[in-house]
Amino acid sequence: MKERILIIEDNKALSKIISKKMEKNLDFDIIQAYTFAQAEEIIDENDDFFITLCDLNLPDAPNGEIVDFVLSRGLPVIVLTGSIDDDLQKEMVGKNIVDYVYKGNIEDVNYIFSLISRLSKNRDIKLMLVDDSMVVRNEVKKILHNQMFNVLVAAHGEEALNYLENNKDIKLVLTDFNMPVIDGVELTKTIRETFDKNEMIIIAMTGNNEPMISAKFLKIGANDFIKKPFGKEELICRINNALDFNEQLKKMSNMAHNDFLTKVYNRRYFFQEIVKFYQDKSSFAVSMIDIDNFKKINDKYGHDIGDSVLVSLANILRENTKGSDLVARFGGEEFCIALRNIDKKQAVGFFAKLRKIISNLNIQTKKGKINITVSIGLSFSGEKKNIDMLLKEADEALYRAKNLGKNRVEIV
Ligand code: GH3
Ligand code: MG
Ligand code: MG
Repeated sequence: MKERILIIEDNKALSKIISKKMEKNLDFDIIQAYTFAQAEEIIDENDDFFITLCDLNLPDAPNGEIVDFVLSRGLPVIVLTGSIDDDLQKEMVGKNIVDYVYKGNIEDVNYIFSLISRLSKNRDIKLMLVDDSMVVRNEVKKILHNQMFNVLVAAHGEEALNYLENNKDIKLVLTDFNMPVIDGVELTKTIRETFDKNEMIIIAMTGNNEPMISAKFLKIGANDFIKKPFGKEELICRINNALDFNEQLKKMSNMAHNDFLTKVYNRRYFFQEIVKFYQDKSSFAVSMIDIDNFKKINDKYGHDIGDSVLVSLANILRENTKGSDLVARFGGEEFCIALRNIDKKQAVGFFAKLRKIISNLNIQTKKGKINITVSIGLSFSGEKKNIDMLLKEADEALYRAKNLGKNRVEIV
């Protein structure tokens, strides 16, 4: 079952627009309530909501009463407001809400989507807060919990390093500067010995009486800093910016490494990664795999179906290999697999089986089931054979497999 979002908004047209857009863009079921009473009834029946959107001005609750009610039921709240009133903003930020959104125009509505998808991702993000002041710890922890982060709290640098040792999946560290024994700068330096700026985000919290510290933090590798005392919104924005940037960077690196159509590695990345196979100093196998008579599939079913066959084959190749192996599309309907840490006999067995799996496959397409076969040429690592030599050998073996009637595995 999908997770649910509750919209409590008396403007039915607006509520409808938001739900429609939300159902289209996010993977949630949207429930709508138009009054306080209706919302109460819905929540009483089943209060399992990922988030609620609450209008401050409802016919039966004109002064934001709904917010306190929903919060009292332990549900996260995004406030929808029509006015940009400073006092109201202050009052709302003072409450334990996730955020407030002006519902003035379409950009504001779009903000809701990015906010919700951000929150939904935050649940999988482990974040560590390091500060020796209990007051700061408690306050910041509350803010981070509100944003649905998975939070670890450390009271000093040593504790933080301990946590890091046992939680390699920490994505972001929010650290104070002034702490006994290991301060924030030392902590940042130590983290940077192992993790670069893209692997672990560090945001430093520095006091006003430490004017030179922010620059120092940035120079030793912090991603950003925030000056104490800071507002809840500024903190959230800085964290979200850093996480968004990190995600964009990941997307870019995926685009640079992966084939656009099939999402397996591209040829360039294959050459970059195969270096590691040589560093292993254990034997490995390289294969060139080419679909038989692929041109006929394009001619018969069209290029789009041809594309989907390529995607299906790439998925099969990926499913049948380990994460430590390499699967790459070298071009057209030609793929290359490198199997790591394997001897000749095992490799031959693997590719014989793979050929069979592929020939028995019914690939589902919009124009019905399609069967394909592949020819495979194999080569094996050995004394003084560089990757160009190995690929040339695999290519020659593939050529032979084609000449000997296709749908077969040949070895140099
Ligand atoms: P063989 O058994 O000798 O390999 O024959 P073949 O038809 O598979 O090989 P050939 O090299 O003659 O033709 C390959 C075809 O693959 C021609 C080309 O249009 C098609 N092709 C290459 N890249 C793509 C692609 O990205 N999508 C689709 N749909 N077709 C592609
Ligand atoms: Mg209203
Ligand atoms: Mg072919």
